[in-house]
Amino acid sequence: MTVPLLFETKLENNVKLVSLNSMIPENVLHETIGKLLVSATQTNNRVFISFPVDTALYKQNYSSMVNYTIKKYGLIEWKAITMTNEIHGHTGIYSIIGAKMGVRAMEYFNVGVNNMYVTTFAGKKPPLSCFNDGIQISTGATIGQGLISISDSVSNIPSAMFEFNNQKIQVSLKEEIARQMQNEIKYGIKTFGLLTDKYWLYIEELAIKYWRDFNKHRKYF
Ligand SMILES: [Zn+2]
Repeated sequence: MTVPLLFETKLENNVKLVSLNSMIPENVLHETIGKLLVSATQTNNRVFISFPVDTALYKQNYSSMVNYTIKKYGLIEWKAITMTNEIHGHTGIYSIIGAKMGVRAMEYFNVGVNNMYVTTFAGKKPPLSCFNDGIQISTGATIGQGLISISDSVSNIPSAMFEFNNQKIQVSLKEEIARQMQNEIKYGIKTFGLLTDKYWLYIEELAIKYWRDFNKHRKYF
C-alpha cells in the first residue's frame, strides 16, 4: 500500500479488504510501480549529474575506501554518509550510524528520500544527537521539510521511529554496539581530553572504522 490512491478498500465483517482500483489504467499502474521502485535505487541528485566517485577527489583517509565501500554498501549509502560528514562538520560515529539507519529504513519501505516521517530518540545534546543529522541527511526527513521530530524521551541507545503510509517501524542500534561506542568515546575523552585536536583525530579514525565495517544488513540494528 505504498501508493494508496491505486487501491480501493472496503470493510466486510470488520475486515478491511483491499484491491486494485479497476478504474486505473494498467499503464498508469506500471508507471507508478516503476517510479517508486526506481526512487529506492537512485541517489536522487539535485545538483550533481552523478555523485562523485573518482578517488582523486577525496582526501587521503577516504580515497582508499571509496571503491571498496561503494561495492560493499552501495552508492546511496556512500552519498548519504559523505554528505552527512560534509554538513555535520566532522566525521562522527553517531552521525554515520544515523545515516546507515536512515538508508536501511528507506530500503525497508522501498522508497527514496523525502518519503518517510521520522521521530528520533537521540535528544538534542551531542555527541548522541549527532545521530539526528545522519538521519536527516540520509532520508531527506529534515527539519526544513517538516518530516522529523526529536522526541523528548531520550534513549542512549541510538533509535528512531520511521513512518511511511501509516506503517511504523522502530529501529534501534544493538545495545552491545551502543555500549562499545560509549566506551570508545569515554576512552578518547580520558586519553586526549574533551574536544582537543587529538580527540577529534581519534574520533575520525573510529568513525571511518564504523563507516567501513558496520554492515546495516547484519542485524546490528
Ligand atoms: Zn557530531
